[in-house]
Amino acid sequence: MLPQIDSDQHDLFYIVHEISGIYFKPLPQSVKLPAMRTLLTTLHSKYIHPSLALPYLASFCSAKKCGELSITEFTTHEPRENIIAEIMRHQADVIAFSVYIWNRTATLDVIDALFAINPQQRIVLGGPEVSFEQDDQIWQDHPGITAIIRGEGEQPLHDLLQQWQTQQEIGPINRVSQRHNKQILHGNDSAPLADLDTIPSPFTNGLMDCSRGFVYYETSRGCPYRCAFCMSALDDQVRSFSQERIERDLLWLLNNEVAKIKLVDRTFNYNPKRALKLFKFILKHNRSSHIHFEIGAHLLNEETLAFLEQVPEDMFQFEVGVQSVLPATLERIQRNAPLELLETNVRFLLNRTKIHLHLDLIAGLPGETFAQMLSGIDHVMNMNPQHLQIETVKLLPGAPLRLQADELGLKFDPNPPYRTLRTPDMDFTDLERVRGISRLLDITWNSNRGKRFIVQLKQHYGTMAKGLAALENFWQQQGLLRFPLSQKEIYENLALFIQYAIPAQFQEMTTEALCRDYALSERIIPTKAPSFFNVDLTETEQLWVKQNVTEKREEIKGQGIKLQFFAAWFHCSTNNNLPQSRRVHLFLYLTATAKKMCTSERIINSAELPSLNAADKRKPLQSDQ
Ligand code: SF4
Repeated sequence: MLPQIDSDQHDLFYIVHEISGIYFKPLPQSVKLPAMRTLLTTLHSKYIHPSLALPYLASFCSAKKCGELSITEFTTHEPRENIIAEIMRHQADVIAFSVYIWNRTATLDVIDALFAINPQQRIVLGGPEVSFEQDDQIWQDHPGITAIIRGEGEQPLHDLLQQWQTQQEIGPINRVSQRHNKQILHGNDSAPLADLDTIPSPFTNGLMDCSRGFVYYETSRGCPYRCAFCMSALDDQVRSFSQERIERDLLWLLNNEVAKIKLVDRTFNYNPKRALKLFKFILKHNRSSHIHFEIGAHLLNEETLAFLEQVPEDMFQFEVGVQSVLPATLERIQRNAPLELLETNVRFLLNRTKIHLHLDLIAGLPGETFAQMLSGIDHVMNMNPQHLQIETVKLLPGAPLRLQADELGLKFDPNPPYRTLRTPDMDFTDLERVRGISRLLDITWNSNRGKRFIVQLKQHYGTMAKGLAALENFWQQQGLLRFPLSQKEIYENLALFIQYAIPAQFQEMTTEALCRDYALSERIIPTKAPSFFNVDLTETEQLWVKQNVTEKREEIKGQGIKLQFFAAWFHCSTNNNLPQSRRVHLFLYLTATAKKMCTSERIINSAELPSLNAADKRKPLQSDQ
């Protein structure tokens, strides 16, 4: 059945959500004017979750006289022809694009084509990428643009659509720039919505497509901090939805068991009391969702930290921006998060809670050299976070750091994503090296597919960052940073690096660490095992493998689980501090229908194996097919 919306509020409203297939129809007797049709759309970089902005816009405008609205989403990877054809299929009077750093160029290309097809179609742009246009160039270059919304979109889009829908005379609208009679009419700046609760919930009214199991959600807008590189620095008045409204939305998401919920609040715990209340609410009502928060670690008080110790594994993920560990740099970018307190709380989270911790560093900030960047990586990695993301600073239009770029000598790409290319302290090569290190951290540490190898690298080079820098150098020389690599290619090239760059006495231990990373994260087919594994087991060792596999088969019998296995021998004690001796490692790969493969490892010291009896020499076991 198609859900219907209260006819008093939605007398001209009709929404089609292409992704969810949810249809909202007006009651026929309530239609008073021919409804203008507006298509709300955006181009994602990857389509793994639906847009948060479009359902909020639709929800706000749907409650007023704005005509019919529909939502359709694309990715930047779709052929442009297909995007254009799909948009045209909607026969909309107005097409509103949400424009971000990753889709600006692609969106403007689509708009140029749409204008050529139908110059009467009204095209509206909004979003952070067009909110701070400094001059009229965009209007000259793209004659298809009818209006640009500046800043938070709900109220200005509503006012614009209503002006058009009710056929009022075209006049200035706050935070809207509009093309009219060959002129650009700029409306005044105005404050954003004071009461966020005036936006009807897109969750409870069915506008948010939750079918992908991953949604973005916000409980507040704005950030109390003023970090110079960040757009949120421009909106330092934090506005929160009411506690009742947040609880209603959260309950809806948690009860619907949305697998992954990412809260996009800029600093979720800007108000520690409010944050604790919400953490408690989530813990009480959560059934199975995994929830990601961006927090200020320095704002966690004792009461909150004590509470967080109760949060079970795999429920909360925190992202904490460290950005730099240089006090002078932090001061220059106006980042006021006391580093010592931040670190103390991060260590508490890592040592005393089961929260997955993701830390961020930024390269190319004023006053930071390549050597200082490497020290920063070591400093942060010594805390042992599950994930470290390193990004080069982007000089975003409107952000304070971009306005200071000349004064600070920061050179950046003038096109999206406006990456810094050179600073007085780091040249392009340095910044590229950091980008390479970041990629290598992603494919080893952050992916959890190479942590043992990285630990060995640290042991050998003295610090993790020096090891990563050596690896980056090798990767660069081999031309491996230019293209994406398969998982197998990554391991093969890491093994090659060990062979060429690590002194002989450390090679065995580092290779064995890599082998365990490999066999624990990928299923290895015994007949296709890479040559850096030691697979020539003795008959006694093979018998032990056979007994263990048979035992496991018995254990899972009748459960519809497929068992595959791989065994190799190791020599060094990279785990549990055992002395060097020959050990057999058996990797058991269990796969149940529609579930992620589960890997376990059994280890035995070969010296402990009883000598082989002639009757035990049977045919080797095979994996389940
Ligand atoms: S970087 Fe984070 S803390 Fe700083 S202004 Fe932006 S959102 Fe706020």
